Amino acid sequence: MMKLCIYCSTGQCIKKGVRNNKQRFQCKSCGKYQLKYYTYKLYNKLDDKIIMFLNAESVGISSLSRFLGYSKQTILKRITFLASRVSKPRLYEYNQVYEVDEMWTYVSSCRTRDVRWITYAMNRKTNQIVDVAVGARSKENLAKVINKLKLLSPKKIITDKLSVYPNLIIPVEHDTRRYKNNKIERSNLNLRTHIKRLSRKTICYSKSEKMLENCVLLYFSWHNWQMKFE
Ligand SMILES: [Zn+2]
Repeated sequence: MMKLCIYCSTGQCIKKGVRNNKQRFQCKSCGKYQLKYYTYKLYNKLDDKIIMFLNAESVGISSLSRFLGYSKQTILKRITFLASRVSKPRLYEYNQVYEVDEMWTYVSSCRTRDVRWITYAMNRKTNQIVDVAVGARSKENLAKVINKLKLLSPKKIITDKLSVYPNLIIPVEHDTRRYKNNKIERSNLNLRTHIKRLSRKTICYSKSEKMLENCVLLYFSWHNWQMKFE
């Protein structure tokens, strides 16, 4: 029996090779290819919101794939796409107090385990996340966040006692006293509970720095930056 074409619905299909152990057909009238059956469903844009929501509810890539019925590749591609659309907020404020902190995490492949840090800044009064940088705890990465804060002419910047900070912050008032950065330390705990790959003492971890950054960006845009869906 000949298979009917799903694209033009009138054409007859002939067998044309095998892909992933599934028979492939080609339409004789429109020339399009199709498989005998498909394992995963076609992506629906309405699921963008569910991906954003579940990413912030400690659901990992594999769980998203099982739950939504898409392949892991599709989920990864979609998260990368959504993260590329995230826009960091433009703030019109001045004379505010900000907290800056780095959070330890790692990126792992087969045998290596490379440490990465999530550096971000938060308005102490409004809890607004100003900027985030993922990577090494280097002067360059910290400067990215601090320089963005300096544009807002801050009243004070509160950090931990890392030795790089005083030189970076210098004209602005700098505070490293204990318990002054409690808001951002509490926010670190939120990140650890809400993002699956950041939870400790589990076997969930990031395999690439890019996806770590993507997931953190999605989390902030969902909870703090109110990303718009069209
Ligand atoms: Zn056809």
